[in-house]
Amino acid sequence: MLDADFFRRWMTATAASVEREAERLTALDSPIGDADHGSNLQRGFRAVTATLEKEAPDTPGAVLTLAGRQLISTVGGASGPLYGTLLRRTGKALGDTAEVGEEQLAEALRAGVDAVMTLGGAAPGDKTMIDALVPAVDALGDGFASARAAAEQGALATIPLQARKGRASYLGERSIGHQDPGATSSALLIAGLAEANG
Ligand code: ADP
Ligand code: MG
Ligand code: MG
Repeated sequence: MLDADFFRRWMTATAASVEREAERLTALDSPIGDADHGSNLQRGFRAVTATLEKEAPDTPGAVLTLAGRQLISTVGGASGPLYGTLLRRTGKALGDTAEVGEEQLAEALRAGVDAVMTLGGAAPGDKTMIDALVPAVDALGDGFASARAAAEQGALATIPLQARKGRASYLGERSIGHQDPGATSSALLIAGLAEANG
């Protein structure tokens, strides 16, 4: 079973990899965006870590809703409300129990990803974070390591795609040949699950 500590470890592991990869995320956002994705998420996940330390929420759902709220209020840019919605909706679906099973987490994340698609209007293949998140949720039944591999694969698979949502879509065909920064950071978020587990 996964308790609030597991979810805290998930958020801090993600914050650490965002710190490590911030320059790369911003570099990916340079040719097909406005070169701020790394700094946006760095600001957001620093706020998440600080708030989790201060407020110490004691259920899985509360950890994720608090983290999501922080992302919405601190990350400027498209990714803030989208990641914020992902975590808040997932947290809400987990309810207020002290421990959740992996199956319940998979279901809740599915609801979170659906909410991101509703909010942003992106579908798989539009070259967004959805291209990493949907395969990850599909693979979650086989464990966190499988979900991580699927998300990384999904992020790589955005390279040949033409962007149909977000800033990169303004480039039309010129968005082809570049890896989507948001799909790349989504793979970090999913990798955080495997790290929190191990
Ligand atoms: P901004 O584009 O406002 O500068 P970021 O650079 O932080 O915001 O985030 C860009 C990422 O957000 C993109 O790489 C993409 O994955 C994701 N994104 C943008 N618009 C959408 C959308 N409508 N639906 C899903 N993801 C989106
Ligand atoms: Mg940007
Ligand atoms: Mg921006």
